[in-house]
Amino acid sequence: MHILILGAGYAGLHTAIELDNLVRNQPDLAQITLVDQNSYHQIVQLLHLTATAAIQTDEAIVPLNKIMQQRAVQIRQGCAAQIKPLQRQVVLQDGQTLDYDRLVIALGAETNYGGVPGAREHTFPLRTFDEALRLRNHIVARFAAAAKTADPAEQRTLLTFALVGGGYTGCQLAGELAAWAPDLCQEFDVPRQEVRIALLDRSKFLLKQFGSWATRNAERILDRRGVSIYLDTPVERVEPRGLYVSGDRVLRAGTIIWAGGIRAPALLAESGLPVDASGRAFVDRYLRVRDQALIFAAGDCANVPDPADGTVPATASYAMRQGTHLADTLASEIEGIAPRTYEPLKLGEVVSLGPGEAIGDPLGVPVFGKTAELMKKGIEAWYRSTLE
Ligand SMILES: Cc1cc2nc3c(=O)[nH]c(=O)nc-3n(C[C@H](O)[C@H](O)[C@H](O)COP(=O)(O)OP(=O)(O)OC[C@H]3O[C@@H](n4cnc5c(N)ncnc54)[C@H](O)[C@@H]3O)c2cc1C
Repeated sequence: MHILILGAGYAGLHTAIELDNLVRNQPDLAQITLVDQNSYHQIVQLLHLTATAAIQTDEAIVPLNKIMQQRAVQIRQGCAAQIKPLQRQVVLQDGQTLDYDRLVIALGAETNYGGVPGAREHTFPLRTFDEALRLRNHIVARFAAAAKTADPAEQRTLLTFALVGGGYTGCQLAGELAAWAPDLCQEFDVPRQEVRIALLDRSKFLLKQFGSWATRNAERILDRRGVSIYLDTPVERVEPRGLYVSGDRVLRAGTIIWAGGIRAPALLAESGLPVDASGRAFVDRYLRVRDQALIFAAGDCANVPDPADGTVPATASYAMRQGTHLADTLASEIEGIAPRTYEPLKLGEVVSLGPGEAIGDPLGVPVFGKTAELMKKGIEAWYRSTLE
């Protein structure tokens, strides 16, 4: 049986690793191919650290051939362009086709600009390693330009950083950027008081997935770091250096970062798969795409039902556990036995808000500060160990 996995992120990579573990003793039964547009696995949870030079440049990526060196998983670098369910084929951007007996779609998500005019053209997204490097270089260039200008208004604009979206990405990046700014001010000899970091969200809450206790604490922590927070502020238009709310320009900023939402790659809908309003494939409780016997989906590109609570959130930990579950399901298919249903495990999440600060709800218990930061670092170290 040829199992083709699209995407070597949290979901796809862990499907491949775990499936290899499960079928290692029966290599004739299954052939596993893992396709990704990159030659490396991105630890997306670290990208805000890459973007703010808080970690070494290559710390957020791990080469796929290193991860797979002891495994019987074929790696194929290529960009999936179309899925043809009737032919059981995937077409790559270079025109080559890959056949499959079972297909796992784990292509993650892209930035969702929500139809806001100018957002795609004039903002920086942060979903990939390349985008993180581009943002980091741009931030440094803004400080360098601010140091050179003699015009105070221009300097203020160059040193204003607006982040749209108060979820994981926006809050974590705001915290790190606020911590990095004093170093950049010193390096480029620009006044710290001219640096402005603004975090805007359309809703009344930051980190709304955690509840109001997290919003209050995140606001307090980020405020103490010097981040200005604007809630209930729906950005409706973006220009090269400006954000508009209710028809008025509310902010001039030399850098605008868009962390306002995600959507699944268009390829899923374009291939005729059943998708929700965010382009995610509807799957059943076995993670099988609705009406598709041979296709499964997991992670951010899947709309996974949660029997207790609507839909499973798009987070790294859920994506990884869905990948592991899929490996089990595929091994069952290979052996011809009935698979188990996927039951979402609510283990909680921890997000960082800059050095020394984090917030989270592991196992439902609210944690803050150093304790939360230690947990976050522990989770990161544990995650790395799963790649060895
Ligand atoms: C800055 C940031 C911080 C975050 N922090 C946290 C956090 O603290 N905790 C948490 O739980 N979640 C966090 N998240 C969310 C988390 O990273 C995602 O939920 C997780 O990455 C989803 O895993 P996935 O496997 O579905 O997709 P991904 O990990 O994004 O993997 C998708 C893979 O598919 C590949 N791919 C995409 N399109 C194609 C194509 N056409 N052809 C071939 N390959 C393709 C990509 O290269 C990638 O390797 C954060 C996200 C960001 C952006």
